Amino acid sequence: MSHYKHIFFDLDHTLWDYDANATDSLHELYDRYDFYDLGVFGKADLVKTFFEVNYELWDLYNEHKIHRADIRKRRFPTIFERLGAMLEDMPSDIEPEYVALCPTKKKTYKHAHDILEYLSVKYQLHVITNGFDDIQETKLRSSGIRDYFDVIVTSETANNRKPSKEIFELALNLSNADLEESIMIGDNLGSDIEGALNVGMDHVWFNPNGYKTDKPIQHEIENLLQLKTIL
Ligand SMILES: [Mg+2]
Repeated sequence: MSHYKHIFFDLDHTLWDYDANATDSLHELYDRYDFYDLGVFGKADLVKTFFEVNYELWDLYNEHKIHRADIRKRRFPTIFERLGAMLEDMPSDIEPEYVALCPTKKKTYKHAHDILEYLSVKYQLHVITNGFDDIQETKLRSSGIRDYFDVIVTSETANNRKPSKEIFELALNLSNADLEESIMIGDNLGSDIEGALNVGMDHVWFNPNGYKTDKPIQHEIENLLQLKTIL
């Protein structure tokens, strides 16, 4: 047992397996829209190009160069263009269909349920996530982990994104948590770890892919069960 009382989790790429769930969704849409019949790209091409384009657009958004709506407006047209497919072959509802489908997928990272079960006995668990209220809520419910958490703070609610101090301060306030009794767990150096450092919160970097960094990291884990050595 540590001195902590409150644990703040990131959601995407930390608990909810964004890449696996996005891949499943794209495979389903590929079949639903018979993209095979276009003869232009395969399932793997669609997935690979989706991730390339998606991360490019999110980077632009995070750099405040485009608005959130632009991500949705530009994502699939850019993917189709890059795959060499005709834009008129792109189903007009593919973006809303993807956005509706993906959060209903339920894959979580290995040991996510076990570690949440273990931690929930000893600590109050909360979520700080960059995303929309309804979408993040759907992800939490679809994957069966919603009930582990007390306070859920999204960037939509906070009107600020990680790594801003404001979203962390709001989360601390809403959960009645003292900074000294709190720890942040997340995969993203730029948002989760930077944000924790900004507000002076202890932190754990979830780094399943073994990335390297020069940042001063307090705790680093490569699988979620290792949290037991810290908490
Ligand atoms: Mg994340």
